[in-house]
Amino acid sequence: MHEYPITLRIVEIANQQANEANGRVTGIHLVVGDESGFIGESIQMYFDVIAEGTPCEGASLSIERVRPKLQCTACGRYFERRPFSFSCPFCGGDGRPTKIGKEFYIKDVELEVD
Ligand SMILES: [Zn+2]
Repeated sequence: MHEYPITLRIVEIANQQANEANGRVTGIHLVVGDESGFIGESIQMYFDVIAEGTPCEGASLSIERVRPKLQCTACGRYFERRPFSFSCPFCGGDGRPTKIGKEFYIKDVELEVD
């Protein structure tokens, strides 16, 4: 549900770039971490509705998911958390949360200029 305003913002940013270049948007590439608080499928769903009638209409939205990683407090390595476990697969130490998996940004906007 809260993906609506963020999707609106993404379309605004892409439309602005298209207007400045006097073109239209053909593709948007997003990076969305699994722990960013946003769900890629919902953004996709809102995108088609919001993009209609704007330079973003018909653009493809590609979403790159990032899986969260923990960092081991003992050996310092990064690893993906397994279900019900925070322990390091390399040394058995305790993993702590990192920023990996909390990403949310527009990586690229592709434009087509006549
Ligand atoms: Zn470790």
